[in-house]
Amino acid sequence: MKDDQHQKPVKLKCEGCGVEAEFNSAEEAFHAGWDCPPRYPWIVTCPKCPSAPILLRKWQAKDGE
Ligand SMILES: [Zn+2]
Repeated sequence: MKDDQHQKPVKLKCEGCGVEAEFNSAEEAFHAGWDCPPRYPWIVTCPKCPSAPILLRKWQAKDGE
């Protein structure tokens, strides 16, 4: 059984500041300080941006629908 599905390249764009970065895998991005799927399926943020305020904004926006 192959376990290389986690190793596919990922291209991320921070939802906080808009910076983009590419990694060989989501795991590598996570170790670089990014919050991203699959660990954080609801958000993509770079190491400089705290994800909490963006998440709060998302959830508040949903409540307003
Ligand atoms: Zn950012």
